[in-house]
Amino acid sequence: MQKADPQNPDVTVITPTSPMTPSTHGGRAKCLQRLVRLDLPVPRTVALSFAAVHDIAAGIMPDVPALLASFDEGALLCVRPSSQDPDWGGPGAILNIGMNDARYVELSDEMGADSAASLYMRFVQSYAIHVARLDPDTFDEIEDTGRDGLSAALQAYEEEAEEPFPQDPVVQLTEVLRSMARAWEGTTARLLRQARGAPADAGLGLVVQEMALGLGQGTGENGSGVLQLVDSETGLQQITGRYLSQSQGREALEQGTASLYLTRDPRGPSLEEIAPEAFAQLVAHAELMRVRLRAEMQIEFTIENGQVHILDGVRVQRSSRAAVRIAVRLADDGIIPRQEAVLRVEPRGLSELLHRQIAPEAVRDVVGYGVAASPGAATGRIVFSAAEAQASAARNEPCILVRRETSPEDIRGMHAAVGVLTERGGMTSHAAVIGRGLGLPCVVGAARMKFDLKRRRITTEDRRTLKEGDIITIDGTNGQVLAGAPEMIEAVLDDSFQTLMAWADEFRDIGIRANADTPADAATARNFAADGIGLCRTEHMFFDADRITPMREMIFADAPEDRQAALAMLLPMQRKDFTELFRIMEGLPVCIRLFDPPLHEFLPTDRAGLRDLAEALDLPVSDVTRRVEALQEYNPMLGMRGVRLGITVPEIYDMQARAIFEATLDASHDGDPVVPEIMLPLVSAKREVELIRTRIEAVAAEVRTRRGQDFTYRLGVMVETPRACLRADEIAPHAHFLSFGTNDLTQMTYGLSRDDAGRFMSEYVQQGLFGEDPFHVLDVEGVGELVATGVERGRSTNNQVTLSICGEHGGNPESIAFCRAVGMDYVSCSPFRVPVARLAAAHLAIRNQTL
Ligand code: PEP
Ligand code: MG
Repeated sequence: MQKADPQNPDVTVITPTSPMTPSTHGGRAKCLQRLVRLDLPVPRTVALSFAAVHDIAAGIMPDVPALLASFDEGALLCVRPSSQDPDWGGPGAILNIGMNDARYVELSDEMGADSAASLYMRFVQSYAIHVARLDPDTFDEIEDTGRDGLSAALQAYEEEAEEPFPQDPVVQLTEVLRSMARAWEGTTARLLRQARGAPADAGLGLVVQEMALGLGQGTGENGSGVLQLVDSETGLQQITGRYLSQSQGREALEQGTASLYLTRDPRGPSLEEIAPEAFAQLVAHAELMRVRLRAEMQIEFTIENGQVHILDGVRVQRSSRAAVRIAVRLADDGIIPRQEAVLRVEPRGLSELLHRQIAPEAVRDVVGYGVAASPGAATGRIVFSAAEAQASAARNEPCILVRRETSPEDIRGMHAAVGVLTERGGMTSHAAVIGRGLGLPCVVGAARMKFDLKRRRITTEDRRTLKEGDIITIDGTNGQVLAGAPEMIEAVLDDSFQTLMAWADEFRDIGIRANADTPADAATARNFAADGIGLCRTEHMFFDADRITPMREMIFADAPEDRQAALAMLLPMQRKDFTELFRIMEGLPVCIRLFDPPLHEFLPTDRAGLRDLAEALDLPVSDVTRRVEALQEYNPMLGMRGVRLGITVPEIYDMQARAIFEATLDASHDGDPVVPEIMLPLVSAKREVELIRTRIEAVAAEVRTRRGQDFTYRLGVMVETPRACLRADEIAPHAHFLSFGTNDLTQMTYGLSRDDAGRFMSEYVQQGLFGEDPFHVLDVEGVGELVATGVERGRSTNNQVTLSICGEHGGNPESIAFCRAVGMDYVSCSPFRVPVARLAAAHLAIRNQTL
């Protein structure tokens, strides 16, 4: 091994064989070694390990004269950070170490006095600011260039530091190493890298590299730049980067420089034209790096008197869309296996592809924050009611529906709006669940803004007033509310996306279904290749104008005959709903949950609504009002809902079961045979299941006899109360499947209202009381223990039972890992989260195989 410091193995010249790993010397050092192994023209480089840099910060210096002796005499050097993961950052590079008065004189002869002066001046400035930590303004304010600028910088240094600028390269390098090592150990840098995912004790390596100067008067070209073979935004193959003659480091990328294009370009001169040979070499080097380093790389290069030097290689920055294209092309070119291509795309990043986004470079005028409840961004005029949203859509004017919170009555308004903003609510509030189902961007629980619905205005967090009709933008990916209309980029589902998802499906070993309530949801679920519908919430089907009245008549009916009459009007509508869903899903499983919410959710809440209802029912308003009041509950989410309603008003479930069975026969006629799945919500005791099952069997028998046709169906239980988890062993023998409803289960386990949690959730998460919002990421310790208990007890008495999750957690990668680990058969999530879930499930399976 070639040591730069004979006494210290932690200070090593980078050769093809020097021992070096990202976890001892950092990613940059390791990458440079790979480039050296490829025989690329990398200037001589010495790597200092994490241990060496840690020692330096503690005051134990390596043998710096020996280190300097590893380079040609009089060479100028640069020092750059080398953290384990390049994304964790590190102190900025310092260039031109070794420059002093004597070298200045020599270099003036070689490259001209102006170039030499500007090189020396740059070193003095960066040393003063980053190493000696003098006031940056003093040095930034120097306007002179060339020799005058240099004298001014040297003089300013002497005045501020109260000593002359150090001339000895040993002193210069010692101080640079010391300041970079200490900067890494500082609190600010630690917090910054922790925010980027680094562990608190992450190490820093440093690389000391001989400089190729990029400045000079020789006959050949001099300058520096960066080059990559793909576009970072689109991922398409396109040579991109910049080049600047007479420059160093990444100066070509600075704003306002006269940098050149790389390839021929009608807008101006290019490197390809002024130095064709160097350009061709660079492209060849980049292509070699792509194949041998198995990644798209950006190379940092210098051209010195026509000669190309490769100073560094880093993985190209990439948008999610580019990440997909790059991974698929690397696999298609045989450079990486498909499994690896799948692993190279972050599942969460996919939601960026599935929705419109605010353009990364757009200016964001943020006026408030809420919970990022449904991803994507949308711009529209503020409207404060569902009716106005519909009116706005009729005028073709995009609108954002702003509500204190949404209720089922707002669904049509939500369909009409391009986005939803609410004051209250959390990840599983009504607006959030429906928003995700519709793929509608949604920010909820923006409680720090003031919503004055009466005066139709919002006071923003920075005390601005937004009125009805004003244009705002919501970003459901990060919870921001913005004034105005920033530039957007469109969603893309191109061939690369489809290819990557097909590969993911080959590897994953857990099913992914969609929660879908409407034909449009079902079509989205098919479009995203869901394995079926895991939850169809039927109550959402009753809010259309032609259904709400018979629904209300049914609720108000005193006599069973009146109730039957109202239900008889609803039956054909439900049958049509289900037939349509079955046809769209073409034989894939469809799990239909029987009616769940408390009945009063279907009743009017304001005077106008009460009057309309009184008219429809031909009753006095006072009568209607009294009856509506009588249906109110203190705690409706724990009251007469779910299976409890099925037991006390059994005609509703009878009607739904009949509609499902008739639709089964209708849809099976012209396609694949349908085996519907019927699910009972809010079960807490096995007796509930037994009673409902008997009634449903009777309905099935009756439909079979009347139609003279046979069919099968599966009956299952939604496990969403703690008691159902604990008694799953009693329940499972009566069910073909158990589906964990982790929204209600989380609510009941924590005793935490789904609809009110948004008010304090961010506070709780910020203060570390909860690691994450448990409505968003499954609480594996508490709620998870109940789920695991339910799984184990359910399987213990029925080993054929199908197990799944259909709460919102089904689309969250960490929660999917939990579901897979406890042995569930599938997860079900909002249709727009299906691709994220498919990819996350594939990651888990691939990682599991390679362990
Ligand atoms: C649940 O509770 O987890 C669930 C899926 O049902 P809902 O959100 O409709 O209550
Ligand atoms: Mg529920």
